[in-house]
Amino acid sequence: KSEEATTPKSADSVNVLRRINLTVADGEFMVLVGPSGCGKSTLLRLIAGLEVMTGGNIWVGDRLINNLPPKERDIAMVFQNYALYPHMTVYDNIAFGLRRRSGGGGENLSFAENLLVGVTRNLPKGLRYISEKERAVHEQVRYVAQLLQIEALLNRLPKQLSGGQRQRVALGRAIARNPQVFLMDEPLSNLDAKLRAETRAQIVKLQRQLGTTTIYVTHDQTEAMTMGDRIAILNQGQLQQVDRPLELYNRPANLFVAEFIGSPP
Ligand code: ATP
Ligand code: MG
Repeated sequence: KSEEATTPKSADSVNVLRRINLTVADGEFMVLVGPSGCGKSTLLRLIAGLEVMTGGNIWVGDRLINNLPPKERDIAMVFQNYALYPHMTVYDNIAFGLRRRSGGGGENLSFAENLLVGVTRNLPKGLRYISEKERAVHEQVRYVAQLLQIEALLNRLPKQLSGGQRQRVALGRAIARNPQVFLMDEPLSNLDAKLRAETRAQIVKLQRQLGTTTIYVTHDQTEAMTMGDRIAILNQGQLQQVDRPLELYNRPANLFVAEFIGSPP
């Protein structure tokens, strides 16, 4: 389960990314860093299928995913700005990807209705019908909510949450789908220092627990150095170096990497 991107991408006839060749190992936590505007978000969006590539290939394991629509790529993305559905409760935000994946069917039970799943489960059958599918969705939402400690928030709307809580819901939505790959685009950028440190640790722990191959974008050096199995450094659309944190620090490939990582001269 590795992932490779050789992805030029042009926007307004300028190449945003050039000669990108990146392989992420199965279960690896890869941190992608680089200055603002260097192409980090574009690279993630290409992998997720949210932007059209002008050339190159993207593999997930032995699947070539270039031409698959986003929802068939088995990749979950957490965005810079959360992108929760404002009109849906926390429960429905988390359940959304699960329902969509299981192929529609028109079942959109509210949280209150879903609570009944738990109640009716123990009643004689026939009192209320809840499909197996919706029951599985319910179990998964509860599991993820417990994991992220957002059980008490399931019936709220995004606008009734703090930034940190929204961020955890966005993570929950990605985790619930149990995808083959996580893409996270600066998921902590809107949090204060304390919450940021807490959530950072939580993400690392979850990723270890789930073993899901992850690409995590940040422009925070501390985050990169502490979170990543390896770090990929991008500048002006080109990869500068991909290596373990200590290797980057001790043996930067060029001046840009040295300055970015803060290696001694
Ligand atoms: P930041 O750290 O600020 O989020 P980034 O590394 O994520 O930056 P991108 O959002 O990938 O940077 O943008 C890379 C470059 O591509 C920028 O110069 C940006 O202006 C340009 N760009 C991105 N998307 C488009 C688009 N759809 N059309 C035109 N230019 C674009
Ligand atoms: Mg970005």
